Amino acid sequence: MNLMLKTVEEFSRRHRYDINPSKSSCIRVNPKSPVQSTNFALEGTRIPFDTSTTHLGIHRNTKCKVNTKDKVELGRRTAYSLMGACFNGKNGLKQSVKSRLWSTFVVPRMLYGLEVLPYSQADLKALEVFQIKTLKQVQHLADRTSNVAALSLLGILPIRAQIHKNTLNLYYSIIQNSETVEYKVAERQLAMKLPTDHSFFSNIRKLLHTYNLPTAYQLLDSPPGKEVWKAKLNSAVDQHTIATWREEFKEKPSLKYINTDALSIGKPHHLYTYERPHKIDNLRAETKAKLLTGTYTLQANRAVFNQYTVNSTCTLCKTEPECRVHFIAKCPISDAVRDKFKARLLECLRLHGREDPLELVNNADSFTQLILDSTHPSVNNGHLPSKKEIESIELLSREYIWCIHLLRCREVAKGS
Ligand SMILES: [Zn+2]
Repeated sequence: MNLMLKTVEEFSRRHRYDINPSKSSCIRVNPKSPVQSTNFALEGTRIPFDTSTTHLGIHRNTKCKVNTKDKVELGRRTAYSLMGACFNGKNGLKQSVKSRLWSTFVVPRMLYGLEVLPYSQADLKALEVFQIKTLKQVQHLADRTSNVAALSLLGILPIRAQIHKNTLNLYYSIIQNSETVEYKVAERQLAMKLPTDHSFFSNIRKLLHTYNLPTAYQLLDSPPGKEVWKAKLNSAVDQHTIATWREEFKEKPSLKYINTDALSIGKPHHLYTYERPHKIDNLRAETKAKLLTGTYTLQANRAVFNQYTVNSTCTLCKTEPECRVHFIAKCPISDAVRDKFKARLLECLRLHGREDPLELVNNADSFTQLILDSTHPSVNNGHLPSKKEIESIELLSREYIWCIHLLRCREVAKGS
């Protein structure tokens, strides 16, 4: 070790750069024996032993473990510094802008260097919990909202998939130059280690298999061009994530109104795409997001959790259980508002050449679906809605939901 330090000294003199000995420290990784007194010296100054240190921006410690707490703290600090007062839903920035800020600045800072460290499932879990909690907070959605909805509405890649992407990119950069030490290590490890082993290259093999990409050896033999690889990797990870999301959507009846065909990574749901940058529109989008994810508290939802003390019947009209269809399409209390909006919706549908718009608007189920997510196949029947059409219906439905929400709040307050 002292010999290596001497070489470093010689190099620094030859190439005329200075190494500050007081800023250097030494850590023992996975020490088998207690600390022994050593005299590692650089430029005549003794280098102290430490339990942790930062090297090239990556935190290293004696146990070679990821400091998840610091990572989460860094992510939180970055998110607050960029979003500030508008962090909690209601105020300021549009959700689509927040989603872009999250993916462009917060995630890369938080995950910096994680692909080269041996992270555990518990580390991934902690980072995922932080991401989900923050994204719900940003959208002002309740904690009980399904995780898949919090991610998919903003079109954000789960932390796990993002780390997998970074790890595979690291492998791609290793195999670029066959003259490097890293390349030789990769060649040796691929030959020596089994795919089931706990090693970096075995993990690479598993990831390539999961995302249906070429095998590690195929990539080693003929590495694709940078652009080709980037496109292939992004598309494979995105498609895999969307397929997982679709499976999760199927299991959750509360998310049945969301059109899973329109799910996309990097592109928020149209609920947020056409959001105007002012407070009232933020509030409208927020109320609609709650209804869409099934977390807007209606009498039927309350009854599910307290079946003996709460009756699911609508407290305003007392005719039938207050579910989403009743609240949006049936409750007689909001008949006047509904009729007005139905006429506007009918006009809008006719303008964009829909077949049988009257039937769509008059049927309670399809009307609810149109109001919550107009792109769903059940109300399109082969029709491909244009961007303009989606935008017009979106603005109309957001306004309608806001009106009936206010009406309901007023009536409930009167009754209590
Ligand atoms: Zn009612």
